[in-house]
Amino acid sequence: PDAVDRIRALVRDVPNFPEPGVMFRDLTGVFASAQGLRDTADAIIATAPEGIELIAGLDARGFIVGATVAARLGIGFVPVRKAGKLPPPTTAISFDLEYGRATFELRDTTVNAGQRVLVVDDLLATGGSARAAGALLRRSGAHLLGYSFLVELIGLAGRESLEADPEAGGVPVH
Ligand code: IMP
Repeated sequence: PDAVDRIRALVRDVPNFPEPGVMFRDLTGVFASAQGLRDTADAIIATAPEGIELIAGLDARGFIVGATVAARLGIGFVPVRKAGKLPPPTTAISFDLEYGRATFELRDTTVNAGQRVLVVDDLLATGGSARAAGALLRRSGAHLLGYSFLVELIGLAGRESLEADPEAGGVPVH
């Protein structure tokens, strides 16, 4: 089996978590496996665009996936964090969730003007998180190369809404 098949076998589907009616894809077993973590980096890198200079990972599982990929590529990593975790100065963006709103923050000066950045997260659902992160990075001067996820939940149109977003889109989604 290839990396994607092995990863798939380590994903656990948990019904009614964190709320009734939701099927949660638990990736803990992927990251706990040495092979799973290696396959994670391999699978992302296999489809990643050329010329990445920096990985931006989304709070919190995007830190695991993104840092693993960055270490393998020999490049740096920046965390896009939930509000209140990073010391100032930071730049923030607020976005809508299914219920309520959330805020992401990026530490100022961690991304250089024109730096070629790939956004990485564990899972693409509606695309709301990635859209906010992409817009935040572009406002901060990044040259956004694209987005990479380990898992895509199809049927939520997350990919389409990300690709078509006026501020965060226009780049490949893998
Ligand atoms: P989106 O913003 O709707 O695309 O949701 C994606 C974000 O929510 C990612 O940061 C994921 O880590 C998290 N997420 C949503 N659903 C799941 C799931 O089933 N398993 C793990 N993470 C999830």
